[in-house]
Amino acid sequence: MAAELLAMPDSELFALADRVCRAEFGTSVYLRGLIEATNNCSRDCAYCGIRRSNPNARRYALSDQDILDAVREGRRAGLSSFVVQGAEDPAFGTGRLAGLARLLRSELGDDVALTLSFGTLSRSAYAELRRAGWNRYLLRFETSDPDLHLALRGSTLDRRLEALRDLRDLGFEVGTGFMTGLPGTNEATLVRDVALTASLEPDMVGIGPFIPHPGTPLARARCRGLAPMQRAVAAVRVLLPQANMPATTAAGSVAPDGRERALAAGANVLMPNIGPAAHKKDYELYPGKICLDEDGIRCMGCLSGRVASVGKRVDMGRGDSPAWLARHGRARVAEAGA
Ligand code: SAH
Repeated sequence: MAAELLAMPDSELFALADRVCRAEFGTSVYLRGLIEATNNCSRDCAYCGIRRSNPNARRYALSDQDILDAVREGRRAGLSSFVVQGAEDPAFGTGRLAGLARLLRSELGDDVALTLSFGTLSRSAYAELRRAGWNRYLLRFETSDPDLHLALRGSTLDRRLEALRDLRDLGFEVGTGFMTGLPGTNEATLVRDVALTASLEPDMVGIGPFIPHPGTPLARARCRGLAPMQRAVAAVRVLLPQANMPATTAAGSVAPDGRERALAAGANVLMPNIGPAAHKKDYELYPGKICLDEDGIRCMGCLSGRVASVGKRVDMGRGDSPAWLARHGRARVAEAGA
Protein backbone atom coordinates (compact mmCIF):
# COMPACT_ATOMS: atom_id res chain seq x y z
CA MET A 1 0.00 0.00 0.00
CA ALA A 2 2.82 2.43 0.87
CA ALA A 3 4.48 1.62 -2.46
CA GLU A 4 1.25 2.19 -4.43
CA LEU A 5 0.65 5.55 -2.75
CA LEU A 6 4.22 6.72 -3.31
CA ALA A 7 3.93 5.72 -6.98
CA MET A 8 1.02 8.12 -7.51
CA PRO A 9 1.64 11.44 -9.28
CA ASP A 10 2.42 14.05 -6.62
CA SER A 11 -0.57 16.27 -7.31
CA GLU A 12 -3.01 13.35 -7.00
CA LEU A 13 -1.36 12.01 -3.85
CA PHE A 14 -1.34 15.44 -2.17
CA ALA A 15 -4.99 16.11 -3.10
CA LEU A 16 -6.02 12.70 -1.72
CA ALA A 17 -4.10 13.29 1.53
CA ASP A 18 -5.64 16.75 1.90
CA ARG A 19 -9.15 15.27 1.47
CA VAL A 20 -8.45 12.55 4.05
CA CYS A 21 -7.05 15.12 6.50
CA ARG A 22 -10.01 17.48 6.12
CA ALA A 23 -12.49 14.59 6.52
CA GLU A 24 -10.95 13.84 9.95
CA PHE A 25 -9.87 17.25 11.23
CA GLY A 26 -11.81 19.77 9.13
CA THR A 27 -9.79 22.93 8.66
CA SER A 28 -8.21 22.75 12.16
CA VAL A 29 -4.47 23.09 12.58
CA TYR A 30 -3.46 22.45 16.19
CA LEU A 31 -0.62 24.33 17.88
CA ARG A 32 1.88 22.74 20.25
CA GLY A 33 4.13 25.11 22.17
CA LEU A 34 7.66 23.67 21.88
CA ILE A 35 10.35 24.21 24.53
CA GLU A 36 13.86 22.97 23.79
CA ALA A 37 15.11 22.24 27.30
CA THR A 38 18.77 21.30 26.84
CA ASN A 39 21.34 20.64 24.13
CA ASN A 40 23.85 18.79 26.36
CA CYS A 41 23.80 15.43 24.67
CA SER A 42 25.42 12.23 25.86
CA ARG A 43 24.73 10.61 22.49
CA ASP A 44 26.57 10.94 19.22
CA CYS A 45 24.04 10.59 16.40
CA ALA A 46 25.86 11.23 13.12
CA TYR A 47 23.16 13.51 11.68
CA CYS A 48 22.67 15.77 14.68
CA GLY A 49 24.38 19.12 15.26
CA ILE A 50 24.20 18.82 19.06
CA ARG A 51 25.88 15.40 19.13
CA ARG A 52 28.34 14.91 21.98
CA SER A 53 31.43 15.17 19.82
CA ASN A 54 30.62 18.48 18.13
CA PRO A 55 33.00 20.79 20.05
CA ASN A 56 31.49 23.89 18.44
CA ALA A 57 28.01 23.47 19.88
CA ARG A 58 27.43 26.14 22.53
CA ARG A 59 25.87 24.15 25.32
CA TYR A 60 22.96 25.29 27.50
CA ALA A 61 20.30 23.85 29.76
CA LEU A 62 17.12 25.55 30.93
CA SER A 63 16.10 25.49 34.57
CA ASP A 64 12.74 24.06 35.61
CA GLN A 65 11.71 27.65 36.34
CA ASP A 66 12.63 28.71 32.76
CA ILE A 67 10.45 25.90 31.41
CA LEU A 68 7.58 26.76 33.74
CA ASP A 69 7.79 30.44 32.72
CA ALA A 70 7.65 29.54 29.01
CA VAL A 71 4.69 27.23 29.51
CA ARG A 72 2.86 29.85 31.60
CA GLU A 73 3.37 32.45 28.90
CA GLY A 74 2.15 30.02 26.24
CA ARG A 75 -0.90 29.22 28.34
CA ARG A 76 -1.67 32.93 28.69
CA ALA A 77 -1.49 33.19 24.89
CA GLY A 78 -4.11 30.43 24.66
CA LEU A 79 -2.05 27.29 24.02
CA SER A 80 -3.29 24.07 25.58
CA SER A 81 -0.64 21.63 24.39
CA PHE A 82 3.08 21.77 25.20
CA VAL A 83 6.10 19.74 24.12
CA VAL A 84 9.31 19.67 26.15
CA GLN A 85 12.13 18.25 24.05
CA GLY A 86 15.74 17.70 24.85
CA ALA A 87 19.05 16.15 24.18
CA GLU A 88 19.85 13.12 26.30
CA ASP A 89 21.32 15.17 29.13
CA PRO A 90 22.31 13.35 32.35
CA ALA A 91 21.21 16.45 34.28
CA PHE A 92 17.63 15.70 33.16
CA GLY A 93 17.22 12.32 34.83
CA THR A 94 13.90 10.58 35.28
CA GLY A 95 13.37 12.01 38.76
CA ARG A 96 13.84 15.57 37.54
CA LEU A 97 11.60 15.09 34.48
CA ALA A 98 8.92 13.54 36.70
CA GLY A 99 9.22 16.48 39.10
CA LEU A 100 8.89 18.87 36.16
CA ALA A 101 5.59 17.23 35.14
CA ARG A 102 4.30 17.60 38.71
CA LEU A 103 5.37 21.25 38.75
CA LEU A 104 3.65 21.97 35.42
CA ARG A 105 0.52 20.07 36.44
CA SER A 106 0.34 21.89 39.79
CA GLU A 107 0.36 25.16 37.88
CA LEU A 108 -1.79 24.24 34.87
CA GLY A 109 -3.99 21.42 36.10
CA ASP A 110 -5.11 18.51 33.98
CA ASP A 111 -6.58 20.53 31.12
CA VAL A 112 -3.40 20.77 29.10
CA ALA A 113 -1.56 18.10 27.13
CA LEU A 114 2.06 17.61 28.20
CA THR A 115 4.37 15.92 25.73
CA LEU A 116 7.90 14.82 26.45
CA SER A 117 10.63 14.01 23.90
CA PHE A 118 13.86 12.97 25.60
CA GLY A 119 14.96 9.91 23.69
CA THR A 120 15.20 6.21 24.43
CA LEU A 121 14.71 5.44 28.13
CA SER A 122 13.97 2.32 30.15
CA ARG A 123 10.43 1.07 30.49
CA SER A 124 10.47 1.81 34.22
CA ALA A 125 11.56 5.40 33.50
CA TYR A 126 8.70 5.84 31.03
CA ALA A 127 6.29 4.38 33.60
CA GLU A 128 7.44 6.92 36.22
CA LEU A 129 7.11 9.78 33.74
CA ARG A 130 3.61 8.67 32.76
CA ARG A 131 2.55 8.50 36.42
CA ALA A 132 4.00 11.95 37.06
CA GLY A 133 1.72 13.52 34.45
CA TRP A 134 3.38 13.45 31.04
CA ASN A 135 0.71 12.09 28.72
CA ARG A 136 2.33 12.13 25.28
CA TYR A 137 5.81 11.10 24.09
CA LEU A 138 7.63 11.73 20.80
CA LEU A 139 10.31 9.28 19.68
CA ARG A 140 11.07 9.07 15.97
CA PHE A 141 12.54 5.79 14.73
CA GLU A 142 14.61 8.04 12.37
CA THR A 143 15.16 5.43 9.64
CA SER A 144 13.65 2.00 9.04
CA ASP A 145 16.92 0.67 7.57
CA PRO A 146 18.42 -1.38 10.46
CA ASP A 147 22.03 -1.15 9.23
CA LEU A 148 21.83 2.58 8.59
CA HIS A 149 20.08 3.11 11.93
CA LEU A 150 22.91 1.37 13.77
CA ALA A 151 25.59 3.18 11.77
CA LEU A 152 24.07 6.64 12.36
CA ARG A 153 22.91 6.24 15.96
CA GLY A 154 25.18 3.62 17.49
CA SER A 155 22.13 1.73 18.78
CA THR A 156 19.69 -0.62 17.14
CA LEU A 157 16.41 0.03 15.40
CA ASP A 158 14.96 -2.84 17.48
CA ARG A 159 15.78 -0.99 20.70
CA ARG A 160 14.00 2.13 19.42
CA LEU A 161 10.97 0.06 18.41
CA GLU A 162 10.93 -1.66 21.81
CA ALA A 163 10.84 1.78 23.47
CA LEU A 164 7.89 2.73 21.25
CA ARG A 165 6.05 -0.43 22.32
CA ASP A 166 6.75 0.37 25.99
CA LEU A 167 5.36 3.89 25.56
CA ARG A 168 2.21 2.57 23.96
CA ASP A 169 1.67 -0.13 26.61
CA LEU A 170 2.03 2.50 29.32
CA GLY A 171 -0.83 4.55 27.90
CA PHE A 172 1.03 7.47 26.33
CA GLU A 173 -0.19 9.09 23.16
CA VAL A 174 2.78 8.02 21.09
CA GLY A 175 4.50 9.91 18.31
CA THR A 176 7.11 8.55 15.97
CA GLY A 177 8.45 9.41 12.52
CA PHE A 178 11.62 9.73 10.51
CA MET A 179 13.87 11.96 8.45
CA THR A 180 13.68 11.89 4.66
CA GLY A 181 16.73 12.07 2.43
CA LEU A 182 19.34 10.66 4.82
CA PRO A 183 22.51 9.69 2.97
CA GLY A 184 22.40 6.01 2.03
CA THR A 185 18.63 5.98 1.55
CA ASN A 186 16.64 5.73 -1.67
CA GLU A 187 13.04 5.39 -2.83
CA ALA A 188 12.81 1.84 -1.46
CA THR A 189 13.86 3.17 1.98
CA LEU A 190 11.14 5.81 1.80
CA VAL A 191 8.56 3.12 1.05
CA ARG A 192 9.77 1.11 4.05
CA ASP A 193 9.82 4.20 6.29
CA VAL A 194 6.18 4.91 5.40
CA ALA A 195 5.18 1.24 5.78
CA LEU A 196 6.90 0.92 9.17
CA THR A 197 5.21 4.12 10.38
CA ALA A 198 1.80 2.81 9.34
CA SER A 199 2.41 -0.60 10.97
CA LEU A 200 3.20 1.05 14.32
CA GLU A 201 -0.20 2.83 14.30
CA PRO A 202 1.16 5.86 16.18
CA ASP A 203 -1.03 8.72 17.38
CA MET A 204 1.40 11.35 16.06
CA VAL A 205 3.87 11.26 13.18
CA GLY A 206 6.68 13.77 12.60
CA ILE A 207 8.43 13.61 9.23
CA GLY A 208 11.10 16.14 8.34
CA PRO A 209 13.82 16.54 5.73
CA PHE A 210 17.38 15.71 6.82
CA ILE A 211 19.55 18.86 6.71
CA PRO A 212 23.35 18.31 6.87
CA HIS A 213 25.10 20.05 9.74
CA PRO A 214 28.74 21.19 9.27
CA GLY A 215 29.77 19.95 12.72
CA THR A 216 28.85 16.32 12.00
CA PRO A 217 30.29 13.41 10.01
CA LEU A 218 27.48 14.01 7.46
CA ALA A 219 28.64 17.59 6.80
CA ARG A 220 29.29 16.89 3.14
CA ALA A 221 26.02 15.07 2.46
CA ARG A 222 23.52 16.95 0.33
CA CYS A 223 20.04 18.07 1.38
CA ARG A 224 17.57 16.38 -0.93
CA GLY A 225 14.90 19.05 -0.60
CA LEU A 226 11.26 18.90 0.40
CA ALA A 227 9.69 16.55 -2.12
CA PRO A 228 10.38 13.26 -0.30
CA MET A 229 9.08 14.75 2.97
CA GLN A 230 5.92 16.00 1.29
CA ARG A 231 5.25 12.65 -0.42
CA ALA A 232 5.89 10.75 2.82
CA VAL A 233 3.57 13.03 4.82
CA ALA A 234 0.84 12.54 2.22
CA ALA A 235 1.22 8.75 2.09
CA VAL A 236 1.21 8.43 5.89
CA ARG A 237 -1.85 10.68 6.11
CA VAL A 238 -3.77 8.35 3.77
CA LEU A 239 -2.66 5.27 5.73
CA LEU A 240 -3.29 6.82 9.16
CA PRO A 241 -6.20 9.24 8.74
CA GLN A 242 -6.38 9.93 12.49
CA ALA A 243 -2.72 10.67 13.20
CA ASN A 244 -1.72 14.14 14.33
CA MET A 245 1.03 15.21 11.96
CA PRO A 246 3.16 18.35 12.34
CA ALA A 247 4.42 20.45 9.48
CA THR A 248 7.96 20.42 10.84
CA THR A 249 10.33 23.28 11.54
CA ALA A 250 12.93 21.44 9.43
CA ALA A 251 10.53 21.67 6.46
CA GLY A 252 10.22 25.43 7.06
CA SER A 253 13.99 25.69 7.24
CA VAL A 254 14.58 24.09 3.82
CA ALA A 255 12.21 26.49 2.05
CA PRO A 256 10.14 29.49 3.16
CA ASP A 257 6.92 27.68 2.20
CA GLY A 258 8.02 24.28 3.51
CA ARG A 259 5.47 24.08 6.29
CA GLU A 260 2.63 25.26 4.03
CA ARG A 261 3.59 22.48 1.61
CA ALA A 262 3.34 19.93 4.42
CA LEU A 263 -0.02 21.40 5.53
CA ALA A 264 -1.31 21.10 1.96
CA ALA A 265 -0.28 17.43 1.87
CA GLY A 266 -2.01 16.20 5.02
CA ALA A 267 -0.23 17.74 8.03
CA ASN A 268 -2.51 19.22 10.71
CA VAL A 269 -0.20 20.48 13.49
CA LEU A 270 2.35 23.29 13.92
CA MET A 271 4.85 23.60 16.74
CA PRO A 272 5.79 27.22 17.49
CA ASN A 273 8.98 27.43 19.52
CA ILE A 274 8.00 29.22 22.75
CA GLY A 275 11.27 28.73 24.63
CA PRO A 276 13.56 31.62 25.67
CA ALA A 277 14.81 33.42 22.53
CA ALA A 278 18.36 33.55 23.96
CA HIS A 279 18.87 29.80 23.50
CA LYS A 280 16.86 28.94 20.38
CA LYS A 281 19.84 29.18 18.04
CA ASP A 282 21.90 26.85 20.25
CA TYR A 283 19.45 23.96 19.84
CA GLU A 284 21.01 23.62 16.43
CA LEU A 285 20.18 20.12 15.19
CA TYR A 286 20.70 21.45 11.66
CA PRO A 287 21.78 24.80 10.21
CA GLY A 288 19.36 27.41 8.87
CA LYS A 289 16.75 26.88 11.59
CA ILE A 290 13.94 29.42 11.29
CA CYS A 291 12.19 31.76 13.77
CA LEU A 292 15.29 32.24 15.92
CA ASP A 293 14.90 35.87 16.87
CA GLU A 294 11.21 35.94 17.57
CA ASP A 295 9.72 35.20 20.90
CA GLY A 296 7.33 32.31 20.62
CA ILE A 297 4.19 34.28 21.09
CA ARG A 298 4.98 36.52 18.12
CA CYS A 299 5.70 33.31 16.21
CA MET A 300 2.08 32.31 16.70
CA GLY A 301 0.80 35.39 14.85
CA CYS A 302 2.95 34.52 11.85
CA LEU A 303 1.70 30.94 11.90
CA SER A 304 -1.97 31.95 11.66
CA GLY A 305 -1.19 33.73 8.37
CA ARG A 306 0.60 30.68 7.01
CA VAL A 307 -2.28 28.41 7.98
CA ALA A 308 -4.83 30.73 6.36
CA SER A 309 -2.84 30.63 3.11
CA VAL A 310 -3.71 26.94 2.71
CA GLY A 311 -7.39 27.39 3.62
CA LYS A 312 -7.08 26.19 7.20
CA ARG A 313 -7.32 27.88 10.60
CA VAL A 314 -5.43 27.70 13.87
CA ASP A 315 -7.26 25.68 16.52
CA MET A 316 -6.15 26.34 20.11
CA GLY A 317 -7.68 23.09 21.38
CA ARG A 318 -5.61 20.27 22.82
CA GLY A 319 -6.02 18.24 19.65
CA ASP A 320 -6.19 14.86 21.35
CA SER A 321 -5.45 11.91 19.14
CA PRO A 322 -8.75 10.38 17.96
CA ALA A 323 -7.03 6.98 17.84
CA TRP A 324 -5.84 7.31 21.46
CA LEU A 325 -9.34 8.32 22.55
CA ALA A 326 -10.75 5.27 20.80
CA ARG A 327 -8.16 3.00 22.46
CA HIS A 328 -8.65 4.35 25.95
CA GLY A 329 -12.25 5.41 26.01
CA ARG A 330 -13.27 9.03 26.35
CA ALA A 331 -14.17 8.50 30.02
CA ARG A 332 -10.55 7.98 30.95
CA VAL A 333 -9.29 11.19 29.41
CA ALA A 334 -9.61 13.22 32.57
CA GLU A 335 -8.01 10.52 34.70
CA ALA A 336 -5.10 10.37 32.25
CA GLY A 337 -4.47 14.06 32.71
CA ALA A 338 -4.95 14.46 28.98
N1 SAH B 1 16.86 13.30 21.91
C1 SAH B 1 15.50 13.17 21.41
C2 SAH B 1 15.10 14.37 20.56
C3 SAH B 1 15.86 14.45 19.28
S1 SAH B 1 15.76 15.98 18.39
C4 SAH B 1 15.37 11.87 20.65
O1 SAH B 1 16.36 11.19 20.42
O2 SAH B 1 14.25 11.51 20.30
C5 SAH B 1 14.31 15.77 17.43
C6 SAH B 1 14.46 15.26 16.02
O3 SAH B 1 15.26 16.12 15.22
C7 SAH B 1 15.13 13.93 15.87
O4 SAH B 1 14.25 12.89 16.19
C8 SAH B 1 15.57 13.94 14.41
O5 SAH B 1 14.64 13.26 13.57
C9 SAH B 1 15.60 15.43 14.05
N2 SAH B 1 16.93 15.85 13.56
C10 SAH B 1 18.12 15.68 14.18
N3 SAH B 1 19.14 16.11 13.38
C11 SAH B 1 18.58 16.54 12.24
C12 SAH B 1 19.10 17.09 11.01
N4 SAH B 1 20.41 17.25 10.81
N5 SAH B 1 18.21 17.43 10.04
C13 SAH B 1 16.90 17.29 10.23
N6 SAH B 1 16.34 16.77 11.36
C14 SAH B 1 17.17 16.40 12.35
